[in-house]
Amino acid sequence: MDSAHVEDDLVNVLFTEAQIQARLKELAREIEVDYEGKDILIVGILRGAVMVMADMARSFARHVEMDWMAVSSYGSGTKSSGVVRILKDLDTDISGRDVIIVDEIIDTGLTLSWLSSNLSSRSPASVEICTLLRKPEALQMPVDVKYVGWDIPNEFVVGYGLDYRERYRNLRDIGTLAPHVYS
Ligand code: IMP
Ligand code: MG
Repeated sequence: MDSAHVEDDLVNVLFTEAQIQARLKELAREIEVDYEGKDILIVGILRGAVMVMADMARSFARHVEMDWMAVSSYGSGTKSSGVVRILKDLDTDISGRDVIIVDEIIDTGLTLSWLSSNLSSRSPASVEICTLLRKPEALQMPVDVKYVGWDIPNEFVVGYGLDYRERYRNLRDIGTLAPHVYS
């Protein structure tokens, strides 16, 4: 789905498909350099990070393993409920592994700060976080993010995996959702 198909629902297009692909390539290069000689396990957070994982993994010029977790924190609206629950755990034993958690957006930081300490307690060699987007509010939580695509304003965005009530995930670009859609 292109932005033109949901034009009336968006205030603006923040990042086009091409901009997203270019930024993911840069992040993959950065990670490759930092993890030279190490086996990386990237952990995608379902369901929003599916697109980021698929495109970033293919941007690596080397092997990476992929695993997935599902957590719930939001319910179906636009505000965090503050409760994190594991819906699907890793299939991989991460002890001694170099783990990178991959997410599409950090808002309050609640989900990832919780997840990162949860994974850290499983004796990995290292745990870092990579997120495509970060909102300024993330700074309120003690979450140490090593790789960030872009910092964005505190508005509700959709597309490229980001949903509003399970819609817009398949939008190629990322745009700001018009308030009339959720009010
Ligand atoms: P946090 O725990 O507040 O950092 O929120 C993390 C999760 O909330 C993200 O992984 C998204 O699933 C969801 N989320 C936060 N902000 C947005 C947004 O602007 N659009 C869509 N989903 C969002
Ligand atoms: Mg998410």
